[in-house]
Amino acid sequence: MAQEQARNDNPEVDSDKARASLDRLYNIYKDIASTADEVMQTRCPYKDAASRCTAKFGCRNQYFTSDPTSLPACAGSDQIDYREAWDQ
Ligand code: SF4
Repeated sequence: MAQEQARNDNPEVDSDKARASLDRLYNIYKDIASTADEVMQTRCPYKDAASRCTAKFGCRNQYFTSDPTSLPACAGSDQIDYREAWDQ
């Protein structure tokens, strides 16, 4: 997308500067996406930052506490493929 030729209908827009800015943004998002792709190979996408499970289905890594209103804790290790633990 950033490599597409930009139209410059507005003479107040510096198209070279705009293109450089878009290229920079593209590279930032590309790195973020690459890291996310790598992390999601082992970290389950349903695990929140506090290691609670937000999945709406059963998983053998869910650890339920005595509080019925709280989300279950995730007992997954992030070292193995979590998808095999999901209920079919
Ligand atoms: S309990 Fe299972 S579904 Fe929930 S976050 Fe952990 S691995 Fe993912």
